[in-house]
Amino acid sequence: MAHKSISLNVNGIARKFSKLGYNISVLAQDFSIIPKNDPKQALRLRRFFISLGIYILNLSLAYLGYKAGIMELKALYGNWLLILSVNIILYIAFRSGWNKRMKDPSLTALQICVASLVVMYGIFFVYQARGVLLSVYVLILLFGIFRLDTRQFLYVSAFILLTYGIDIALLKIFRPHDIILESEFFQWTALAVVLISVSFIGGNISALRRELSSSRKKIQESLAKIQEMAIQDDLTGFYNRRHLMELIENERSRAARTGATFSLAMMDLDKFKSVNDTLGHQAGDAVLMTFANIIRNVLRKTDFCGRYGGEEFLVVLTQTNLREAKVFAERIRVCVEDCLVFETEKGQKSHVTVSIGLAEHLKTEGVYRTISRADEAVYKAKKNGRNRVEVSE
Ligand code: GH3
Ligand code: MG
Ligand code: MG
Repeated sequence: MAHKSISLNVNGIARKFSKLGYNISVLAQDFSIIPKNDPKQALRLRRFFISLGIYILNLSLAYLGYKAGIMELKALYGNWLLILSVNIILYIAFRSGWNKRMKDPSLTALQICVASLVVMYGIFFVYQARGVLLSVYVLILLFGIFRLDTRQFLYVSAFILLTYGIDIALLKIFRPHDIILESEFFQWTALAVVLISVSFIGGNISALRRELSSSRKKIQESLAKIQEMAIQDDLTGFYNRRHLMELIENERSRAARTGATFSLAMMDLDKFKSVNDTLGHQAGDAVLMTFANIIRNVLRKTDFCGRYGGEEFLVVLTQTNLREAKVFAERIRVCVEDCLVFETEKGQKSHVTVSIGLAEHLKTEGVYRTISRADEAVYKAKKNGRNRVEVSE
């Protein structure tokens, strides 16, 4: 019994390990430094790499500082370690998608604050060159242009000024001989003036960026709508006649190239004038929409339909011969007969029916000829009593 439970456990653990191994291999296969299918995250990571580049420049600066005797060795190591850990944590935060849980997934303000803490550390340990490092604060704040508004810029500036203030206080306590308080205070004030100015300029640039991207989005939406309107019929959502003709012409070229055939089904509602007359034009429109939905439900993915005229619809059945087209048309005819019912003012139910004319495209003819043969077949259906399918042989 004991043996059995142990062997079961071993199996369980083995299964877990193989699953873990599988997951890691899937992750490794799909892994890329910048995500491929999430453009927003990719942009954030690209910005992260820009800041990483600047960090690396600062690492080199710290090394030069050490070589020039401006920075101690332990401070240099500390600086490197700090920058390395900050960037590893930030990369994991971005790449794991943790950042998406935050209110601002670009983590701009957080990154600026973290960077200013790194500079704060550096400033404490350099001796004569503190003033130069203040320009790095301005560089860090510039990253806000990607995201921050003026108010947020000012908050972040206040944070930077606070870190620099803490630096001065710590220097006063631990290394009082290294600083002249008046000159430090002057530098602090100068930094405040620069940061506040950058905040206002940056806030304006960032607002401009936002306006630009929102108007670009609006233009794209309008363009998509215009494109849709240019090819679609408003009432039914089917293609309009102009676009339908283009598509049929394409289909003809394809058929000529591949040797495949296609058929056209022209549909005309029976006695539709009397629907309008008894119910009004609006109710007539509703009947047209219902009719369109019936066609939509029966249509295969490869087929398409357009509104050819007022209550005339033309369906293009790709790779379909006349015999197959008949099956489709008969299905539509029966569905319409059964489902397209309206109620008259007297409460009586009245059925709307459809007449359908079919024509298979012949390689020797143009599309207009095929359409006119389908039209003639509709005429024949009307003549033979309506609610019928007729073919052009
Ligand atoms: P038939 O059986 O011979 O086809 O008779 P019919 O009354 O349907 O005759 P016809 O096809 O010539 O008439 C089409 C009618 O469809 C005329 C028009 O009032 C109506 N119609 C065309 N477009 C629209 C539309 O967009 N909305 C509405 N409500 N009616 C339309
Ligand atoms: Mg008609
Ligand atoms: Mg009609």
